[in-house]
Amino acid sequence: MKKFDYEEIVGHSLIQKKLRQAVATDHVVSAYLLCGSRGIGKKTIMSAFAAALLCQNPNEGKPCLSCPACRLLLSGNHPDLIRLELPADKKTIGVELVREQLIKEAYIRPFHAGRKVFIIEDGELMTAEAQNALLKILEEPPAYAVFLILSTAPDQLLETVRSRCLKLQLLPLSDSVCRQYFENLPAEYNDRKELAASFSQGVIGRGLLMLENEAYYQLYQKTMSQLAAFAESRSALTDFSQFLTQNKEYIQDIIDFMLIFLRDCLRSKISEHPKLICTDQKATLQRFLSVYSTGGLVHSTEALIHFRERLSKNASFTAAVLELLTKMQEETHG
Ligand SMILES: [Zn+2]
Repeated sequence: MKKFDYEEIVGHSLIQKKLRQAVATDHVVSAYLLCGSRGIGKKTIMSAFAAALLCQNPNEGKPCLSCPACRLLLSGNHPDLIRLELPADKKTIGVELVREQLIKEAYIRPFHAGRKVFIIEDGELMTAEAQNALLKILEEPPAYAVFLILSTAPDQLLETVRSRCLKLQLLPLSDSVCRQYFENLPAEYNDRKELAASFSQGVIGRGLLMLENEAYYQLYQKTMSQLAAFAESRSALTDFSQFLTQNKEYIQDIIDFMLIFLRDCLRSKISEHPKLICTDQKATLQRFLSVYSTGGLVHSTEALIHFRERLSKNASFTAAVLELLTKMQEETHG
């Protein structure tokens, strides 16, 4: 994917237009808060906007991608674009990082253009202290500074920070736009395109995970095999329990896969033409429909949600897994 290019963005045309107009008419505010779920395109959009802000020769609010500033950006070396990311070994963005990489930098004038752009990824992961430090500079920003805060959970940001930003919300794309996007991908993806399109549910990045992240795709396939075996035989419970324990690190993804699959089953119970997400799992789905009643599927779904809640409260993993699988097995009438 070509970075910094508006042409690469799928959908979100109103927000794109707003950002292009801001550059074209020079009505850029000092802080933007871009919200939306993971994979929806926040980084892609903000990269294009940042490029337009730094470009020496923007055209209708789009970066030219050929001036010296754009070339620096494309090579990854523009000194006036600063990204603040969650450090790989941390769970939050602390105040030190905000002070070092953001506040200090913000008071140094831009090297090149008239602007300096700061992109803060996962804004909600800033600690309260870090947000308060950021707030100080948002209250009196240097004229050249533009802060772009990205967030999947903006309600976790301090109200005082939010109120300093122009908030833009990205919404899931329509099914047809998503399908079109995956349809148009190169033929090498043919065997997974349909699954990726249905999996995306309006969020292209989520579908792309299925295509580009082999470990994620394999985890999905393994989860589905476990479910198939589980519906086939009562003795599969031990294997399933082992699988969940071995993949504890990825348990949230596994829970998502299971919830999506159970929803497919429920949809199939109540509709003759269900819109399935796990389009490649029709045999497992049939097996589930034969051993689970509608009520059994609803109760299993509830058990999964309860399982997720228990884990979030740090319950014993082994005990929670056993409770979940026992409950799911009780619900079968095989
Ligand atoms: Zn340019």
